[in-house]
Amino acid sequence: MRTLRTVAELRAALRPARREERTIGLVPTMGALHEGHLSLIRTARAESDVVVMSLFVNPAQFDEAADLAAYPRDEARDAELAAQAGVDLLFAPAPDEVYPPGFATEVRVGGELTGTLEGAHRGAAHFHGVTTVVTKLFNMVQPDTAYFGQKDAQQAIVLRRLVRDLDIPVRVEILPTVREPDGLALSSRNARLAGDDRRRALALSHGLRAAEQAAAAGETDARAIDGAARAAMNDLGVEPEYLALVDPETLAPLEAVDGEALVAVAARVGEVRLIDNTILNRNGRGS
Ligand code: AMP
Repeated sequence: MRTLRTVAELRAALRPARREERTIGLVPTMGALHEGHLSLIRTARAESDVVVMSLFVNPAQFDEAADLAAYPRDEARDAELAAQAGVDLLFAPAPDEVYPPGFATEVRVGGELTGTLEGAHRGAAHFHGVTTVVTKLFNMVQPDTAYFGQKDAQQAIVLRRLVRDLDIPVRVEILPTVREPDGLALSSRNARLAGDDRRRALALSHGLRAAEQAAAAGETDARAIDGAARAAMNDLGVEPEYLALVDPETLAPLEAVDGEALVAVAARVGEVRLIDNTILNRNGRGS
C-alpha cells in the first residue's frame, strides 16, 4: 500500500490504472477504522481492481469544535488496518491540500433531504460539508464505485441525490451497518462512552429493535411504532434527540408503514452523540 499526500501524487498513481481501464473503488473515511470501515474496504477489494481509501477528518462537516478536537486520530494504526484489508492507495491529505487558501466553493443538496433529522439538529451545514468534500474526492479519484455505510442513512440518501443531480459518473454502493455482538452500531465515537454509558448506549439499537418487533407484529401506525421504540429507549434512561419514521427516499415523515420506512434515531449518551437506523417493511425487519 502506498500513502499519498497530494492530489497530484494521487492522480499520477492512478494514471496507469485509468489508462488500462482497470476499475477503481473508493472508500472515503475519517480514520479511526473499525469493522464497519473494514467491511467497506473488503467489498471494494472484492469488486475493484484498485482500491483507494481516503483518510481525512473533514473540518467542514463538524458542527461542534469540541467534537472535531476530540475526534480520534491514529494514522499509523489506520494505515496498518487499511493495508491488511486490501487498500492499494491511502490518500491522506493535509487540510490545506483539500482546502487551499482562497477556497470559496461549496456543493449543497438543498431542501428537506439536508434540512430534516441530522440537518435539523446539527444544521444542514454538516451535509454541505459532506457533499463538498465527497464531490472533491470524486473529482480527485474518479472512482467507478464509491462505498458508504447504511449506518449514516441520511448521508447515504443525500449522496445518492448528489450523484444523480450532478450526473457524477460514479456508482454509489451502500453496505449494511456492522454492529457489536450486543447490537451497538460500530462508531469511532463509541470509544468515548465512559462507564455505564456503554450499556446505556444500547438504547438506540433496543429502540430500533422494538420498532422492528412492533412492525413485525402487524402494527402499521407510525405513532404506535414510535411509542414502542421510545419506551424501549426509556428503559435504559435515554431520551432520543429525535426518533422518526420517514420515507427512505424523500425522508418525508410517515403516518403509516405500508411500504418501506426508515426509522432514524439520534441520542446523546453521556458526552457522546450517537445515531443509528433500521429499515422496516410490511413484514417488520427490512435490513
Ligand atoms: P466515517 O469515518 O465515520 O466518516 O465513516 C466512513 C464510512 O464508514 C461512512 O460511509 C460510514 O457510513 C461508514 N460506517 C461507519 N460506521 C459504520 C458501521 N458501523 N457499519 C458500516 N459502515 C459504517
